[in-house]
Amino acid sequence: MAKHIFVTGGVVSSLGKGLTSACIGMLLERRGLRVRLQKFDPYLNVDPGTMSPYQHGEVYVLDDGAETDLDLGHYERFTHAPLSRDCNYTSGKIYKTIIEKERRGEFLGRTVQVIPHVTDEIKAAIRKVADADADVVITEIGGTVGDIEGMPFLEAIRQFALDIGKHNCLYIHLTLIPFLKAAKEAKTKPTQHSVRELRAIGIQPDILICRTERELAKDEAEKIAQFCNVENRAVIEERDKEFSIYEVPLSLVNNKLDELIVEKLHLRAKSLEMDDWRQLLNRILHPAHEVTIAVVGKYIKHHDAYKSIYEALDHAGIALHTRVLVRKVEAEDVQREGAEKILGGVDGILVPGGFGDRGIGGKIESIRYARERQAPFFGICLGLQCAVIEFGRNVAGLEDANSTEMDRNCRHPVVCLLDEQYQVTDLGGTMRLGSYPCKLEEGSLAQRAYGKLEVSERHRHRYEFNNQYRQQFAAHGLKVTGTSPDGKLVEVVELENHPWFLAVQCHPEFKSKPIAAHPLFRGFVEAALARRDRKKTEAQRSREGAAVATN
Ligand code: GLN
Repeated sequence: MAKHIFVTGGVVSSLGKGLTSACIGMLLERRGLRVRLQKFDPYLNVDPGTMSPYQHGEVYVLDDGAETDLDLGHYERFTHAPLSRDCNYTSGKIYKTIIEKERRGEFLGRTVQVIPHVTDEIKAAIRKVADADADVVITEIGGTVGDIEGMPFLEAIRQFALDIGKHNCLYIHLTLIPFLKAAKEAKTKPTQHSVRELRAIGIQPDILICRTERELAKDEAEKIAQFCNVENRAVIEERDKEFSIYEVPLSLVNNKLDELIVEKLHLRAKSLEMDDWRQLLNRILHPAHEVTIAVVGKYIKHHDAYKSIYEALDHAGIALHTRVLVRKVEAEDVQREGAEKILGGVDGILVPGGFGDRGIGGKIESIRYARERQAPFFGICLGLQCAVIEFGRNVAGLEDANSTEMDRNCRHPVVCLLDEQYQVTDLGGTMRLGSYPCKLEEGSLAQRAYGKLEVSERHRHRYEFNNQYRQQFAAHGLKVTGTSPDGKLVEVVELENHPWFLAVQCHPEFKSKPIAAHPLFRGFVEAALARRDRKKTEAQRSREGAAVATN
């Protein structure tokens, strides 16, 4: 039977519960255990698919097409745990199931209540991921202890320990120890309060992971232990990392978190091997090169809106011993101030996915700049669609080329609705979602980067390149180099006579890992590095030329 770890958070949100849960998963996997990860989000939306990135950050898509919380991205980047739509439940999804059951009469006349019906449904969701192969299931509860909508989840995990025995469960509470500069003191009171809140509903945390800006002094840790009723060694410091989130697993190991979990859950585990991870970190901390990549989007101010894109760029950097500096560009700024001013000096330009009209002009202008200046360009989903519009307007002579998402009645709908989308009325969960195969043209940039002729990538879109324009575009130099196996849907386009101009309809960023950079991101960053080197050599030559001339 699988053991269960429940991760809750206190004091404030955004403490990095998802990252910490993922790191715990990774450490346990490295100790030979088979891990499952799952997240509960207490809000009422059925999934984050319909939420604005400003509210929620990126929507992370799984192979099965589930639109999930971005913490599942951390789970996939750090572990090998298989993820499915059963790994992310919101209150909305739980309630929807219960209300559907009620309408079918499945409650046989009984009054339907939070306890036991909602809590039973939550416990069933926990059991669902605890398959026969799982040694440990890590369940992260979103939100902060004390939130009204989180209560049924906390009640359910409290009951869970009664159902399967406390010795099979571990409660880990992530908390914040703020440092007050004026008093020159770390403050433990908020943690005491949040643990008291947990204990009031019957959960005694076994381990406290303390997020701090500075080192937690021994006496402070002891005070926390005493007031929160945990062992001294179960107060684990997790200090802010200066350079990279990939430092977190090692710091948790240094603070003996894996040992403590293995001991407390009586797990049979092998010893930990972290040498490869230390090497990975070494590459991050001591890169040999540096490039600047512009990411031109419309939710740039929300630092989590393009999370997996930034991560995938970092992974490519790790593989190439390169620090990738990201210039986060608000698309509207390009439109307002011109591409040269905003994008001058970058080594590559990436236009990520998105929805709606705002910022489209700036994205198209950025792509024109990349095309004309021979700067590496990587378009993803809406980025591909914008590349097609740009090419239509500025190269193929189709002046009002557009996507019907932006202008339903444009004369040249070079991007249009997928056939299956015409009947769709609901917005939630109805896009072309999840993994689909794609066949690549032999010898294309994409095929050479992947080293394969057929690949599978995740999708999230309603619109596609309009096949009526394929030939006309190819004749002008924008070629389709990847399609669905039946050849009907355009998956990849590439520009001829350009060092690296590639756009995809899928979201490759969801499949990149720190130890296995995605081949397209790697190819893109490599092209950016090559351009930077070329520019350096040219500048050097012209300096030497000038010196010769003045001599
Ligand atoms: N809005 C576009 C579509 O629905 C692109 C979606 C995306 O970039 N994820 O097709």
